[in-house]
Amino acid sequence: MRLDVVSIFPEYLEPLNVSLVGKARSRGVLDVRVHDLRDWTHDRHHTVDDTPYGGGPGMVMKPEPWGEALDHVLASGEPEHGRPVLVVPTPSGRPFTQELAVELSDEPWLVFTPARYEGIDRRVIEEYGERLDVREVSIGDYVLAGGEAPVLVMVEAIARLLPGVLGNAASHQDDSFAPGAMADLLEGPVYTKPPEWRGRGIPEVLLSGHHGRIARWRRDQAFARTTDHRPDLIERCDPDTLDKHDRAA
Ligand code: SAM
Repeated sequence: MRLDVVSIFPEYLEPLNVSLVGKARSRGVLDVRVHDLRDWTHDRHHTVDDTPYGGGPGMVMKPEPWGEALDHVLASGEPEHGRPVLVVPTPSGRPFTQELAVELSDEPWLVFTPARYEGIDRRVIEEYGERLDVREVSIGDYVLAGGEAPVLVMVEAIARLLPGVLGNAASHQDDSFAPGAMADLLEGPVYTKPPEWRGRGIPEVLLSGHHGRIARWRRDQAFARTTDHRPDLIERCDPDTLDKHDRAA
């Protein structure tokens, strides 16, 4: 998968060299290209923002540097990638969910446009919306100073779904929000060795070796946790599917 990120703070994207995403890059699973938006400015101050039409506080990112930067990125596409999906981080976008991460992980090429100030001149989104699949995406109901942290969040969520990135491909299948029977339940508690730590043991059932009982316990724990932390998700749960999941274990 190819990922391009255009930002006025390319150094903010350095964590893309680290850990899981960094390893995926060095193994050739991910081809990440970070671009400095200011490379497409032509004045002495490398200006990327201007005052908003209609007045009001804050500044808006100018369309010209974004247009030149995105044209450059698009022109560098290899035939096997086709056209990229343009991912525009914005608090006014659709929520970024595991479902969207799965969908985007199937794309061969994603281009991210993390903004600063009050965001990007709307005409940029309109212009590329005529040629590309543009997704305006929010990582949560809060406002950050810039879109770089949202890009790091999205890239990590997407990259760990790519074949060959996680050591054990099955490990994301049991995650909270993973598609399947437990899709609407959060993952319950997890334990590892030693069997006793500061006088605290391991739930007996996890030592039983009985797969059916363990699956049932995990589902009950997931259910309790979801009821406690995210009652909104419980409404979406289908008890029949969960029962089938238990019987299959
Ligand atoms: N005026 C904008 C609004 O209220 O929707 C907020 C602009 S914010 C200060 C600057 C940039 O940070 C946004 O254009 C976007 O790239 C990024 N950003 C901030 N919060 C975000 C969020 N929750 N999800 C995705 N991107 C976000």
